[in-house]
Amino acid sequence: DTSHGPILYIEDVNVSFDGFKALNNLNLFIDDGELRCIIGPNGAGKTTMMDVITGKTKPDSGSIFFGQQINLQHLSEHQISRGGIGRKFQKPTVFEALSVYENLELATADDKRVWHILSHQLTGAQRDKIDEVLYTIGLSQHVHNSAGNLSHGQKQWLEIGMLLMQSPRVLLVDEPVAGMTGEETERTAELLTSLAGKHSVIVVEHDMAFVRSIAKNVTVLHQGSVLAEGTMDQVQSNPKVIEVYLGE
Ligand code: ADP
Repeated sequence: DTSHGPILYIEDVNVSFDGFKALNNLNLFIDDGELRCIIGPNGAGKTTMMDVITGKTKPDSGSIFFGQQINLQHLSEHQISRGGIGRKFQKPTVFEALSVYENLELATADDKRVWHILSHQLTGAQRDKIDEVLYTIGLSQHVHNSAGNLSHGQKQWLEIGMLLMQSPRVLLVDEPVAGMTGEETERTAELLTSLAGKHSVIVVEHDMAFVRSIAKNVTVLHQGSVLAEGTMDQVQSNPKVIEVYLGE
Protein backbone atom coordinates (compact mmCIF):
# COMPACT_ATOMS: atom_id res chain seq x y z
CA ASP A 1 0.00 0.00 0.00
CA THR A 2 1.58 3.23 -1.17
CA SER A 3 -1.11 5.43 0.36
CA HIS A 4 0.08 8.21 2.67
CA GLY A 5 -3.37 8.92 4.06
CA PRO A 6 -5.73 11.63 2.98
CA ILE A 7 -4.56 15.19 2.43
CA LEU A 8 -8.15 16.27 1.84
CA TYR A 9 -11.23 14.71 3.35
CA ILE A 10 -14.61 16.09 2.34
CA GLU A 11 -17.22 14.63 4.66
CA ASP A 12 -20.99 14.84 4.04
CA VAL A 13 -20.81 18.31 2.53
CA ASN A 14 -24.04 19.99 1.48
CA VAL A 15 -24.38 23.28 -0.41
CA SER A 16 -27.72 24.67 -1.57
CA PHE A 17 -28.47 27.69 -3.72
CA ASP A 18 -32.10 28.81 -3.31
CA GLY A 19 -33.13 25.28 -2.36
CA PHE A 20 -31.20 23.68 -5.24
CA LYS A 21 -28.65 21.16 -3.93
CA ALA A 22 -25.39 21.88 -5.75
CA LEU A 23 -23.54 19.49 -3.40
CA ASN A 24 -25.57 16.68 -1.88
CA ASN A 25 -23.78 14.76 0.88
CA LEU A 26 -20.51 14.88 -1.01
CA ASN A 27 -17.84 12.55 0.35
CA LEU A 28 -14.38 12.61 -1.17
CA PHE A 29 -10.90 11.52 -0.05
CA ILE A 30 -7.80 12.75 -1.80
CA ASP A 31 -4.57 11.00 -0.87
CA ASP A 32 -1.37 12.87 -0.23
CA GLY A 33 0.54 13.13 -3.52
CA GLU A 34 -2.31 11.80 -5.60
CA LEU A 35 -3.32 13.01 -9.06
CA ARG A 36 -7.12 12.87 -9.23
CA CYS A 37 -9.37 13.85 -12.10
CA ILE A 38 -12.91 15.00 -11.42
CA ILE A 39 -15.35 14.64 -14.28
CA GLY A 40 -19.12 14.91 -14.57
CA PRO A 41 -21.77 16.53 -16.74
CA ASN A 42 -22.54 20.25 -16.60
CA GLY A 43 -24.13 21.21 -13.32
CA ALA A 44 -22.71 18.16 -11.50
CA GLY A 45 -21.16 20.34 -8.80
CA LYS A 46 -17.52 20.35 -9.87
CA THR A 47 -17.03 24.11 -9.55
CA THR A 48 -18.94 24.22 -6.27
CA MET A 49 -16.69 21.43 -4.97
CA MET A 50 -13.60 23.53 -5.77
CA ASP A 51 -15.28 26.56 -4.22
CA VAL A 52 -15.87 24.76 -0.91
CA ILE A 53 -12.33 23.37 -0.79
CA THR A 54 -10.85 26.83 -1.33
CA GLY A 55 -13.22 28.58 1.06
CA LYS A 56 -14.98 30.66 -1.59
CA THR A 57 -18.25 28.97 -0.64
CA LYS A 58 -18.95 27.73 2.87
CA PRO A 59 -20.88 24.45 3.17
CA ASP A 60 -24.34 24.48 4.77
CA SER A 61 -23.27 21.34 6.62
CA GLY A 62 -20.44 18.81 6.63
CA SER A 63 -16.70 19.20 7.08
CA ILE A 64 -13.58 19.60 5.00
CA PHE A 65 -10.34 18.47 6.58
CA PHE A 66 -6.91 19.39 5.24
CA GLY A 67 -4.16 17.05 6.45
CA GLN A 68 -5.09 15.14 9.56
CA GLN A 69 -6.86 17.80 11.53
CA ILE A 70 -7.19 21.22 9.98
CA ASN A 71 -10.87 21.97 9.57
CA LEU A 72 -11.15 24.39 6.65
CA GLN A 73 -14.63 25.60 7.59
CA HIS A 74 -13.27 28.19 9.94
CA LEU A 75 -10.66 29.60 7.57
CA SER A 76 -11.02 32.37 5.00
CA GLU A 77 -10.26 31.94 1.30
CA HIS A 78 -7.05 33.91 1.82
CA GLN A 79 -5.96 31.77 4.79
CA ILE A 80 -6.64 28.58 2.85
CA SER A 81 -4.61 29.71 -0.16
CA ARG A 82 -1.76 30.84 2.10
CA GLY A 83 -2.09 27.58 4.03
CA GLY A 84 -1.21 25.37 1.09
CA ILE A 85 -4.15 24.94 -1.27
CA GLY A 86 -3.52 26.64 -4.62
CA ARG A 87 -6.18 27.11 -7.27
CA LYS A 88 -5.68 27.60 -10.97
CA PHE A 89 -8.72 29.04 -12.68
CA GLN A 90 -9.38 28.30 -16.30
CA LYS A 91 -8.40 31.73 -17.60
CA PRO A 92 -4.76 32.64 -17.02
CA THR A 93 -4.26 35.77 -14.95
CA VAL A 94 -0.58 36.46 -15.46
CA PHE A 95 0.73 40.03 -15.50
CA GLU A 96 1.11 40.51 -19.24
CA ALA A 97 3.38 43.56 -19.10
CA LEU A 98 5.87 41.86 -16.79
CA SER A 99 8.50 39.27 -17.71
CA VAL A 100 8.16 35.60 -16.88
CA TYR A 101 10.76 36.08 -14.16
CA GLU A 102 8.95 39.08 -12.67
CA ASN A 103 5.69 37.16 -12.59
CA LEU A 104 7.39 34.44 -10.55
CA GLU A 105 9.06 37.05 -8.35
CA LEU A 106 5.67 38.56 -7.57
CA ALA A 107 4.33 35.14 -6.70
CA THR A 108 6.83 34.94 -3.82
CA ALA A 109 4.98 37.83 -2.20
CA ASP A 110 3.40 37.30 1.17
CA ASP A 111 2.61 40.66 2.57
CA LYS A 112 5.74 42.27 1.22
CA ARG A 113 5.40 45.30 -0.93
CA VAL A 114 5.47 44.79 -4.66
CA TRP A 115 8.18 47.47 -4.86
CA HIS A 116 10.60 45.41 -2.79
CA ILE A 117 10.00 42.40 -4.95
CA LEU A 118 10.37 44.14 -8.29
CA SER A 119 13.49 45.91 -7.11
CA HIS A 120 14.99 42.40 -7.01
CA GLN A 121 15.50 42.11 -3.26
CA LEU A 122 14.92 38.39 -3.26
CA THR A 123 16.83 36.00 -1.05
CA GLY A 124 19.10 33.34 -2.57
CA ALA A 125 16.57 30.71 -1.60
CA GLN A 126 13.81 32.56 -3.43
CA ARG A 127 15.97 32.87 -6.54
CA ASP A 128 16.77 29.14 -6.40
CA LYS A 129 13.06 28.42 -6.09
CA ILE A 130 12.33 30.53 -9.18
CA ASP A 131 14.97 28.60 -11.16
CA GLU A 132 13.52 25.29 -10.00
CA VAL A 133 9.98 26.35 -10.95
CA LEU A 134 11.13 27.70 -14.34
CA TYR A 135 12.65 24.31 -15.07
CA THR A 136 9.53 22.46 -13.92
CA ILE A 137 7.21 24.52 -16.14
CA GLY A 138 9.61 24.44 -19.08
CA LEU A 139 10.00 28.21 -19.42
CA SER A 140 13.71 28.58 -18.59
CA GLN A 141 14.35 29.82 -22.14
CA HIS A 142 11.67 32.49 -21.80
CA VAL A 143 12.57 34.11 -18.49
CA HIS A 144 13.04 37.60 -19.97
CA ASN A 145 10.08 37.46 -22.37
CA SER A 146 7.09 39.46 -21.34
CA ALA A 147 4.23 37.23 -20.29
CA GLY A 148 1.99 38.93 -22.84
CA ASN A 149 4.10 37.46 -25.65
CA LEU A 150 3.76 33.86 -24.46
CA SER A 151 1.50 31.36 -26.18
CA HIS A 152 -1.77 30.41 -24.50
CA GLY A 153 -0.22 27.18 -23.22
CA GLN A 154 2.88 28.93 -21.89
CA LYS A 155 0.71 31.42 -19.99
CA GLN A 156 -1.13 28.54 -18.35
CA TRP A 157 2.18 26.92 -17.33
CA LEU A 158 3.45 30.24 -15.99
CA GLU A 159 0.37 30.54 -13.83
CA ILE A 160 0.89 27.02 -12.52
CA GLY A 161 4.47 28.11 -11.79
CA MET A 162 3.20 31.12 -9.85
CA LEU A 163 1.15 28.76 -7.68
CA LEU A 164 4.18 26.47 -7.24
CA MET A 165 6.17 29.41 -5.81
CA GLN A 166 4.00 29.05 -2.70
CA SER A 167 4.85 25.32 -2.41
CA PRO A 168 1.23 24.19 -2.14
CA ARG A 169 0.33 20.78 -0.71
CA VAL A 170 -2.76 20.68 -2.94
CA LEU A 171 -3.23 22.16 -6.41
CA LEU A 172 -6.72 22.53 -7.88
CA VAL A 173 -6.66 22.94 -11.64
CA ASP A 174 -9.74 23.84 -13.66
CA GLU A 175 -9.81 22.66 -17.28
CA PRO A 176 -6.06 23.02 -17.87
CA VAL A 177 -6.04 22.06 -21.54
CA ALA A 178 -9.02 24.09 -22.78
CA GLY A 179 -7.89 25.95 -25.91
CA MET A 180 -4.49 24.26 -26.07
CA THR A 181 -2.83 22.76 -29.14
CA GLY A 182 -2.16 19.02 -29.19
CA GLU A 183 1.49 19.59 -28.36
CA GLU A 184 0.63 21.93 -25.47
CA THR A 185 -1.85 19.37 -24.19
CA GLU A 186 0.85 16.67 -24.15
CA ARG A 187 3.25 18.97 -22.36
CA THR A 188 0.57 19.80 -19.78
CA ALA A 189 -0.05 16.10 -19.17
CA GLU A 190 3.67 15.67 -18.47
CA LEU A 191 3.74 18.71 -16.21
CA LEU A 192 0.73 17.70 -14.07
CA THR A 193 1.98 14.11 -13.84
CA SER A 194 5.39 15.34 -12.71
CA LEU A 195 3.81 17.47 -9.96
CA ALA A 196 2.00 14.52 -8.39
CA GLY A 197 3.92 12.94 -5.55
CA LYS A 198 5.30 16.28 -4.39
CA HIS A 199 1.81 17.79 -4.45
CA SER A 200 -1.71 16.43 -4.56
CA VAL A 201 -3.21 17.54 -7.84
CA ILE A 202 -6.96 17.71 -8.46
CA VAL A 203 -7.92 18.31 -12.07
CA VAL A 204 -11.42 19.15 -13.28
CA GLU A 205 -11.52 18.46 -17.00
CA HIS A 206 -13.99 17.75 -19.80
CA ASP A 207 -11.45 16.39 -22.27
CA MET A 208 -11.76 12.63 -21.70
CA ALA A 209 -8.72 11.72 -23.79
CA PHE A 210 -6.67 14.05 -21.60
CA VAL A 211 -8.12 12.58 -18.40
CA ARG A 212 -7.27 9.11 -19.64
CA SER A 213 -3.71 10.21 -20.40
CA ILE A 214 -2.98 11.53 -16.91
CA ALA A 215 -5.14 9.96 -14.23
CA LYS A 216 -5.18 6.59 -12.59
CA ASN A 217 -7.94 7.80 -10.30
CA VAL A 218 -11.11 9.35 -11.65
CA THR A 219 -14.15 10.55 -9.72
CA VAL A 220 -17.46 11.12 -11.50
CA LEU A 221 -19.73 13.70 -9.90
CA HIS A 222 -23.44 13.82 -10.64
CA GLN A 223 -26.10 15.92 -8.93
CA GLY A 224 -23.69 16.99 -6.22
CA SER A 225 -22.58 13.50 -5.17
CA VAL A 226 -20.00 10.93 -6.20
CA LEU A 227 -21.55 8.66 -8.82
CA ALA A 228 -18.51 6.48 -9.47
CA GLU A 229 -14.83 6.25 -8.70
CA GLY A 230 -12.03 4.18 -10.21
CA THR A 231 -9.80 4.03 -13.23
CA MET A 232 -10.98 5.62 -16.48
CA ASP A 233 -11.79 2.13 -17.83
CA GLN A 234 -13.82 1.31 -14.74
CA VAL A 235 -15.85 4.52 -14.71
CA GLN A 236 -16.41 4.55 -18.48
CA SER A 237 -17.85 1.05 -18.41
CA ASN A 238 -20.06 1.80 -15.40
CA PRO A 239 -23.72 1.69 -16.56
CA LYS A 240 -24.70 4.58 -14.23
CA VAL A 241 -21.98 6.76 -15.76
CA ILE A 242 -22.94 5.84 -19.33
CA GLU A 243 -26.56 6.73 -18.60
CA VAL A 244 -25.67 10.12 -17.16
CA TYR A 245 -23.43 11.07 -20.09
CA LEU A 246 -25.89 9.85 -22.72
CA GLY A 247 -28.60 11.91 -21.07
CA GLU A 248 -26.54 15.12 -21.22
P1 ADP B 1 -20.26 22.09 -12.69
O1 ADP B 1 -19.03 22.87 -12.37
O2 ADP B 1 -20.10 20.62 -12.49
O3 ADP B 1 -20.82 22.40 -14.05
P2 ADP B 1 -21.48 23.79 -10.67
O4 ADP B 1 -20.81 23.48 -9.38
O5 ADP B 1 -21.04 25.01 -11.39
O6 ADP B 1 -21.40 22.52 -11.63
O7 ADP B 1 -23.03 23.95 -10.46
C1 ADP B 1 -23.85 23.01 -9.79
C2 ADP B 1 -25.25 23.55 -9.79
O8 ADP B 1 -25.37 24.62 -8.86
C3 ADP B 1 -25.68 24.12 -11.15
O9 ADP B 1 -27.01 23.71 -11.41
C4 ADP B 1 -25.58 25.61 -10.98
O10 ADP B 1 -26.56 26.27 -11.75
C5 ADP B 1 -25.84 25.80 -9.49
N1 ADP B 1 -25.09 26.94 -8.95
C6 ADP B 1 -23.75 27.01 -8.86
N2 ADP B 1 -23.38 28.17 -8.29
C7 ADP B 1 -24.51 28.86 -8.02
C8 ADP B 1 -24.81 30.13 -7.43
N3 ADP B 1 -23.83 30.94 -6.98
N4 ADP B 1 -26.11 30.49 -7.34
C9 ADP B 1 -27.09 29.68 -7.76
N5 ADP B 1 -26.88 28.49 -8.32
C10 ADP B 1 -25.61 28.06 -8.45
